Amino acid sequence: MTSAEIRQAFIDYFAEQGHHPVHSSPVIPGNDPTLLFTNAGMVQFKETFLGQEVRDYARAVSVQRCIRAGGKHNDLENVGYTARHHTFFEMLGNFSFGDYFKPEAIQFAWTFLTERLGLPAEKLWVTVFEEDDEAADIWLKELGVSSARFSRCGAKDNFWSMGDTGPCGPCSEIFYDHGPSIPGGPPGTPDEDGDRYIEIWNLVFMQFDRSADGTLTPLPKPSVDTGMGLERLAAVLQGVHNNYDIDLFKTLVNAAAQLTGQSDTSLSSLRVIADHIRSCAFIIADGVLPSNEGRGYVLRRIIRRAIRHGYKLGQTQPFFHQLVAPLVAEMGEAYPELAAKAAEVTRALKLEEERFAETLENGMAHLEQAIAGLAGATQIDGETIFKLYDTYGFPVDLTADIARERGLTLDEAGFEQAMQAQRERARAANSFGGNQTVRIDCQAVTEFVGYSNDQAHAKVVGLFVD
Ligand code: ATP
Ligand code: MG
Ligand code: MG
Ligand code: MG
Repeated sequence: MTSAEIRQAFIDYFAEQGHHPVHSSPVIPGNDPTLLFTNAGMVQFKETFLGQEVRDYARAVSVQRCIRAGGKHNDLENVGYTARHHTFFEMLGNFSFGDYFKPEAIQFAWTFLTERLGLPAEKLWVTVFEEDDEAADIWLKELGVSSARFSRCGAKDNFWSMGDTGPCGPCSEIFYDHGPSIPGGPPGTPDEDGDRYIEIWNLVFMQFDRSADGTLTPLPKPSVDTGMGLERLAAVLQGVHNNYDIDLFKTLVNAAAQLTGQSDTSLSSLRVIADHIRSCAFIIADGVLPSNEGRGYVLRRIIRRAIRHGYKLGQTQPFFHQLVAPLVAEMGEAYPELAAKAAEVTRALKLEEERFAETLENGMAHLEQAIAGLAGATQIDGETIFKLYDTYGFPVDLTADIARERGLTLDEAGFEQAMQAQRERARAANSFGGNQTVRIDCQAVTEFVGYSNDQAHAKVVGLFVD
């Protein structure tokens, strides 16, 4: 099945079960300052779950364009390293607003996978939240799923939240076993890291609204929110293991290979570029331009990462914007709003490429020199990271990405110190008058690798409030 056929099959199946088809909302959440980007299908239904908005249907189905490149769900660092993570992906979801609950949600998901799509039950593994006996009974007793492929997991994986606040609840997940040739243990085991057992579908039983102080208030009515990654399901149905080998990505990876003159399409830089063109194009199409703060800075960071991967492949001229055309050819039918903005998106990307090209080469030379001077040490010093950031426009995560490729780490504390010194210089300059405001962009620190996503999220929110 092609990606397009999978989208349609999902909508058709749930429409048959009385679900109202709803088009994807933009990747920029309407008026939710707690959220950087739409990270799940439920985002556009948040108020409905909370009982603050009433819709004239109690069941919905959607294919939602999502970004996970900042905030609570941040997969930027995973791209290029796992077979299953993207910064942009499409989430297939069915929703119940106080209508059906656990038994139907589980039944629908199982029937869709095993009967409609014909996936063998022996390849599917199931997890539930450790305290959720009700969901466990449905899987084991009603559907007869084998206890050999079933486990109970803790809150980290099986209690889902959109962000630090908002609707949340216990969940039950379905994994696909891609076979013993791929490393990784089943869910809930110590060696589960790896890509053998890939999570494909999360069924969330929405029961609470979490407030800023952590209190859980029951929702007016228990509801259901599910999310299945289209790309992961496509990999299963197309008999490939890596998401980047599905139909949709093949076109993009091939286009990137052609542009950069590569013949080996399994290069991870090509995958990163193919991933990043999707998130960048949709973020711009949905109304955000590269800038030095908030969402615009996340966008800038993703674009610069893509350009740097191009540079690694020998590309010194702007190329990234040329991927908009093949992207629109691939996804414009499903997302006419992207097709409508193609020219604008291309222009914005080209401008950003030209801007960064001026400093990229010199920045890389500076970094290479610093690395050469390490003489066996494995940590890049704070002054170098700061200079790359401040003078050459290298977001810190970009430097971190290069360091990781070389088996090096960054001196976080040293960088913080250099930032702090800069802040003090700026403050002094300000108080001595001039009417010149120097805005220090803290987001590079915010997104520093090594912080937990939750901390980063709290800081990003803090930044917006500033
Ligand atoms: P993982 O554990 O693999 O990171 P997750 O538990 O963070 O996934 P959920 O928040 O449960 O993911 O999202 C629901 C579904 O969306 C997942 O089961 C998966 O199919 C898909 N998904 C989540 N993150 C990504 C991503 N970065 N790229 C592609 N698909 C994703
Ligand atoms: Mg994740
Ligand atoms: Mg997971
Ligand atoms: Mg999950």
